[in-house]
Amino acid sequence: MPESPKIPSFEEARHLVEQHAAGLRAVSTPPRTTETVDLLHASGRVLAEPIRADRDFPPFPRATRDGYAVRSADLRGLPTTLDVIGEIKAGAMPEDLPAKLQSGQAVAIMTGAPAPSGADAIVMVEYTSRHGNRVEITKTVAAGDNIVPTAAEARRQDLLIEAGTLLDEAAIAVAASVGKSELRVYTRPRVAVLSTGDEVVNVNRQPGPNQIRNSNSYSLAAQILNTGGEPVLLPIAPDETRRLKELIEEGLKSDLLLLTGGVSMGKYDLVEPVLVESKAEFLFLGAQIQPGRPVVFGRVKGKYFFGLPGNPVSTMVTFELFARPLLEALGGMKPRPLVFLHARLKTEIKTKTGLKRFLPAVLSGEFERSEVELARWQGSGDIAATARANCYIVVPPDRERIAAGEWVPVLLR
Ligand code: AMP
Ligand code: MG
Repeated sequence: MPESPKIPSFEEARHLVEQHAAGLRAVSTPPRTTETVDLLHASGRVLAEPIRADRDFPPFPRATRDGYAVRSADLRGLPTTLDVIGEIKAGAMPEDLPAKLQSGQAVAIMTGAPAPSGADAIVMVEYTSRHGNRVEITKTVAAGDNIVPTAAEARRQDLLIEAGTLLDEAAIAVAASVGKSELRVYTRPRVAVLSTGDEVVNVNRQPGPNQIRNSNSYSLAAQILNTGGEPVLLPIAPDETRRLKELIEEGLKSDLLLLTGGVSMGKYDLVEPVLVESKAEFLFLGAQIQPGRPVVFGRVKGKYFFGLPGNPVSTMVTFELFARPLLEALGGMKPRPLVFLHARLKTEIKTKTGLKRFLPAVLSGEFERSEVELARWQGSGDIAATARANCYIVVPPDRERIAAGEWVPVLLR
């Protein structure tokens, strides 16, 4: 057995994973491959090319309100009446625009239309009344009001989105606005999933009286997919050294290996000994958290692996806390800090000190009135309670009691 140094705190363990993730980004191992996807299917993928402005944004001084384009200096004494010399619609061509707005003149203008030269502000239509070819204005404007100047958002060739960005709706809107109907994205990293345990049977098999179905491979596959990876499910490994070793070898063909079960201190918890035999380097053996205390992180034959505890909730939580940032780095994504939101605790929590706890909880309420309370559960094997929960309350290791009404950190699911 490798020597067990002091078990790291949650933060220490997380930072260690983040350091290795940073290392992966720096050297780009494995060499990252890319593929082209249609913009419609780019959501959730990681951008592999920079997106630059193909022209100035906006390309013309854009009116942001319906109203009248004016010279702000004309509106010093109110109300003022100006001559309306024309109208500019969104999409107007240069020949539709007056040569230059003179003092005493106004042009009716629509949102998204180019402001005419000579005008330096738009008065909202709400503050005007039209009388034939004249408009009475009842509110002053400052120079620049309701006009976005040419190139104020970006200049042609400016970098708008950098490679490594997870494509969400806003990034996709940017891609569309610069005319990219296809994007280069990183190929999804392959993640091998190896569930272990003599009691664990395939979902499509009838379990014996003391057996349970394999749920971990599927919950992990779901998490891998929503992290941008491609799950590769291996057959279930029995608690037997030779076969376990074979399957680990198989798993190391992927970019990352996730094992579940067999990492505690039991006589048949063989994951660690088998990895020791394969000369694995252990980066941590356990973290001071609950659920998931026995979680293991290491590297063998040039690949990273996590040994996640077999209890289904422990498996889910330890993936979120530790495997996700490494997988994001393998997928080419920029680092994202782990952020806990805060909500008001609905019902008192009593627990023991020593470990940082991530307890399944239900966040409810709406608008600014969110409240959170622990799910009633039977411990880290209780998948049904976890499925009814929608987040985890984070309990710091030094708290024994948290009163109802306190703000508590929450990890959303
Ligand atoms: P272990 O970490 O191997 O000691 O397993 C801890 C608990 O998780 C035991 O109750 C196992 O039966 C259960 N377990 C292990 N692997 C799985 C799996 N793949 N799916 C569902 N439960 C599992
Ligand atoms: Mg086991």
